[in-house]
Amino acid sequence: MLNIVLFGPPGAGKGTQSKKIIQKYNLIHIATGDLFRLHLSNNTSLGIRAKEYMNKGNLVPDNIVINMVEDKINNSNNVEGFIFDGFPRTINQATALDKMLEIKNIPIKQMLALKVEEEELIRRIKNRAKTSGRLDDQSEEKINNRIQVYNNETKPVANYYKEHDKFSEINGIGGITEIFDELCSIIDNL
Ligand code: ADP
Repeated sequence: MLNIVLFGPPGAGKGTQSKKIIQKYNLIHIATGDLFRLHLSNNTSLGIRAKEYMNKGNLVPDNIVINMVEDKINNSNNVEGFIFDGFPRTINQATALDKMLEIKNIPIKQMLALKVEEEELIRRIKNRAKTSGRLDDQSEEKINNRIQVYNNETKPVANYYKEHDKFSEINGIGGITEIFDELCSIIDNL
């Protein structure tokens, strides 16, 4: 089982790289932002609950996110592994994920963290805003809030994996293929 956490700030390229990784390694992609957006577009009660948080660029409460991920894991059978993208985003979520996977005896192998500085993140998200249709991409205020939430609440999650000796950092600036090759070389040595 190859379970990976792909980590990094908003706009770091997690979605882009995840798509390539799941194809190469035959993994299930659990992207909490995508799952929430699907719920939103289907107008489910979960989507309605998540909407106000997402549109402001704040985190959806842990219990909602954790239950959604747990469902997704439990509904995936005969898989070769999971790639978690946009999750865990708090220490609470990280410990909950460890518990879920411990019961199944399928622990996280490694966190792969994409490193991109703030100026570049803002540039990328503003550019994405032209086509993403995402409300949280649309204003500088929301983008800045997301980066601040990342710095305050999500960054400490990297230390959690460092402490467990499961942390690798990759430069997230460069060509998509170049970054992908670097991620693959780490994954192949896990
Ligand atoms: P990005 O990484 O570009 O900010 P995502 O698509 O990963 O965007 O997430 C969009 C929004 O969905 C977040 O700003 C947050 O409101 C919500 N969300 C996604 N994942 C989580 C999570 N693990 N915990 C809390 N909220 C989340």
